[in-house]
Amino acid sequence: MELDVRPAIEASRFAKYLPRKGAGSQGGTPELIQFGNGANLKFITAGGGDEKRSGFTGPVLVVTEVSHLDETGGQSDEATKLKQMEGRVRAYRASGQARVYLESTVTTEHGRMWQEWQQGTAGEVVFPCHSCGRYISPGRDNLIGWQDSETESAAERLARWSCPECGIVFDDQKRLQQLRSAVLLYRGQSVAKTGRITGKIPETKTLGFRYSAATNTFVTSAIIGGDEWRAEREVDQELAERELLQWTWALPARPAETQLEPLDHRTIMLRQHDHRRGEVPDDTIRIAAGVDVRSAQLDWFVTAEQKNGRLFCIDYGFEPILRELSDLQTALRQAIRTLQEKFAAGWEPESGTGNRSADITLIDSGWETDLIREESQRDNTWHTAMGFGFKQHRGLKYTAPKRQSRQSLRIGEGWHDVLFTQGRPLREYQNNADHWKRRVHQALSVDQDAAGALLLPRTDKPQGRAELARQLTAEREVQQFEIGKGTSVRWVQTFSRNHLLDACYMSFVGLSVLQSDAALAERRRVAATADQPEKRKRREKFVRSLHQ
Ligand SMILES: [Zn+2]
Repeated sequence: MELDVRPAIEASRFAKYLPRKGAGSQGGTPELIQFGNGANLKFITAGGGDEKRSGFTGPVLVVTEVSHLDETGGQSDEATKLKQMEGRVRAYRASGQARVYLESTVTTEHGRMWQEWQQGTAGEVVFPCHSCGRYISPGRDNLIGWQDSETESAAERLARWSCPECGIVFDDQKRLQQLRSAVLLYRGQSVAKTGRITGKIPETKTLGFRYSAATNTFVTSAIIGGDEWRAEREVDQELAERELLQWTWALPARPAETQLEPLDHRTIMLRQHDHRRGEVPDDTIRIAAGVDVRSAQLDWFVTAEQKNGRLFCIDYGFEPILRELSDLQTALRQAIRTLQEKFAAGWEPESGTGNRSADITLIDSGWETDLIREESQRDNTWHTAMGFGFKQHRGLKYTAPKRQSRQSLRIGEGWHDVLFTQGRPLREYQNNADHWKRRVHQALSVDQDAAGALLLPRTDKPQGRAELARQLTAEREVQQFEIGKGTSVRWVQTFSRNHLLDACYMSFVGLSVLQSDAALAERRRVAATADQPEKRKRREKFVRSLHQ
């Protein structure tokens, strides 16, 4: 108010109407200013309750930075806020007095601003080229010189405008001169070299015009060249691109959602290792299993980690919950016990004798929680897991505890344990499901020979392989851009059966827990060599308690 509005009024012939006393005369941001000629200026903000935006009527509405009120093309609360504001002038429509002024950067093609502009007069600011004389509105392609620069300052120094018609290169001084002869050209109109405009103004009640970097007198080619140069080097290319379009070029961003790392199930199908399903490769250092629970069956996935960091799916499948024979709870218990026996019996090693069993199994306890916790207490390699994230547990966000406590002894990468002491103590691994699904998809997209790459078992049954691949890619992560908030990512489901993806990511969490165990044991071993016997005993007791 003090910085933008007041000086403008003071410089105008309306200065004499500025209030000399009362609200608005002493500076600050008042809610209502009453001018000497009877006009009122009421300030309305997007924040606060609806009544703030619906209790005052007037003939003229001015809304600045509409993009903040319009993020999803008319579907959001924010769009309703804009509608509420527009409702204030309704009473003045019939008399023809109503005027609504909207100002904004451009968001998306579906955004209010772009729609209004396109369907209105769609005006463009154009100015005459000093060389060819044609009226031009240089765009992004016409800013040259920064592209080959090695440094940001070189980009700033070398950036120049070029005429889209004749190609002549000019600097800001020239551009500012040319802009003094700028004209506004509406949709369907043309302008001759003489400056004469021909063609009718489109028949619409919305007058709109757009100006962009070249027609903005407040920015220089150096600023824009520097912005472009930096954006090209941003890690998050899409975000940088959208911000440039919005803030510099006044162009709509491409669709607001973009998929990250698109994973194709057909490619996944071909990611096989040389071992048949059920065989543990040599050099396996640890084995973790994940179990997803639903009312019809338990879906499970077993991952072996090799010394070189590669991850092999050694087995996967489902255990039916036989509800025909008993009630659901009994059948569920039975299925869990069958699986406990299976995982304890283990899998045949590639060479040598003696089966390898799972070192840890994480089972989802989001449903039938008490029963699943109880059954997990029967086997000390079994623990429950609770996933948090976009699609889990009503969308609750995962939050790790800030520090260790008796309740949470360890805080790992996207997981922490929570101790339950009813019956045999049980550690439940709460985890960031989004983070771990992303890990799975990374493991499926990196080079097959890389550490951390996940490979699937060799199998002669293509249907089974296709189903596994489909389930592992049943959800994909999309990035969503919201003006004013930046980007956020979320998971969307693209295939109805996603249980093996959940089971797989839980086996990954299990591996991470085992890795953390191993690191702790190593630290203990190093420390123990220099320790007093008394202290060592205490430490060993602590470590034992982790495995209970
Ligand atoms: Zn020209």
